Amino acid sequence: MTNFDLIVVGLGVLGAACADAATAAGLRVVAIERGGIGGGATAAAMGHLVAMDDDAAELALSSYSLRLWDEFADLPQAQFSRCGTLWVAREERELGIIEAKIARLESAGVAAFRVAADDLPRLEPALVAGLAGGMHVPADAVVYPPAIAQFLVTRAVSRGATLLQGRRVGALHAGGVALDDGSRLQGPTLLTTGCALGELLPRLALRARKGHLVITDRYPRTLRHQVLELGYAASAHGSDAASVAFNVQPRPTGQLLVGSSREFDSTSAAASLPMVRRMLARAIEFLPALRSLQVLRIWTGFRPTTADGRPYLGPVPERRDLWVAAGHEGLGVTTALGSARLLVDQLLGRTPAIDPTPFLPARAWQ
Ligand SMILES: Cc1cc2nc3c(=O)[nH]c(=O)nc-3n(C[C@H](O)[C@H](O)[C@H](O)COP(=O)(O)OP(=O)(O)OC[C@H]3O[C@@H](n4cnc5c(N)ncnc54)[C@H](O)[C@@H]3O)c2cc1C
Repeated sequence: MTNFDLIVVGLGVLGAACADAATAAGLRVVAIERGGIGGGATAAAMGHLVAMDDDAAELALSSYSLRLWDEFADLPQAQFSRCGTLWVAREERELGIIEAKIARLESAGVAAFRVAADDLPRLEPALVAGLAGGMHVPADAVVYPPAIAQFLVTRAVSRGATLLQGRRVGALHAGGVALDDGSRLQGPTLLTTGCALGELLPRLALRARKGHLVITDRYPRTLRHQVLELGYAASAHGSDAASVAFNVQPRPTGQLLVGSSREFDSTSAAASLPMVRRMLARAIEFLPALRSLQVLRIWTGFRPTTADGRPYLGPVPERRDLWVAAGHEGLGVTTALGSARLLVDQLLGRTPAIDPTPFLPARAWQ
């Protein structure tokens, strides 16, 4: 039996960030991944680093994390691009929420500006004419999530972490884990297994929420900002069985990454053409030029979703030395770095930078 200070199970962006933060704090870590590093939801993500203000706890976590992302702005493999986010409204009545959004974002240290309808064509000439206005958040950015996960794991290994890739944790036992070959590792255990959380910990509910993405060929300078409709948050936070929202990102390659869809009741990873059509039709309403662009690839992924939309970050009730960092829905790339700090601070008994209470797994323990 081998002893560690922390056993990290699952190396998506959350596990990678936690392994990185734990080794930075001097812990002896073993990091275990059954598939490819960053190969789960992390590989499917858009990589939009976005301040979300619809829930106070989510805003605290996303704005804290965004500050930590600054460290990666010059890292070539991160493909970091500070494109900013442009939120747009089709209807005048949608604009009513903007002042409150700006105030909430600014209270969390995120600068945001109202954009008049007349200014939209200057900011994004490809947007459809006649939009009602919007909001600009210049510090938001995009990254390439699987490369970030790989970078963080490599950095953890360079600080002494043991990497077990291609190995699956088959069971938890008192004080550690059992691997698929029956061997045992001893130590405090952190589950960062994303949508697979229920395989090892069925008492913390998670639902997989399917999403589709479409990527086009290279059309440099078609868009400068990641552009979303103001109603996007209603789709992200709503409990509809299926919804779509306009969300398009200019990749640093010049490609356009088009989202987004959300479905609760689909367990198949296959792309659904009716859903892709619905998503593209929504996007074309805002960005008519999309109609004539060449699509290269369509893929799907599953967001790990909790009932209240907040991730589980902290100790598992009734279990000694078992921790969880999972359930980040569509914001896990943005919030990975802050989540990892929050988790490791709790593990070491340090005072976290933000209040961990809203994220404690105890709220959902069944
Ligand atoms: C279509 C789509 C678009 C998105 N866009 C964005 C975005 O723009 N911005 C943003 O912030 N977020 C976005 N997200 C959300 C983000 O991708 C997720 O919140 C985040 O990647 C979750 O990371 P994770 O590490 O928890 O899970 P995962 O990346 O799924 O990693 C979990 C890992 O655990 C491993 N594992 C599971 N069980 C075991 C076991 N028993 N033993 C060993 N290993 C195990 C898996 O193989 C996997 O690699 C998007 C998600 C989707 C699906």
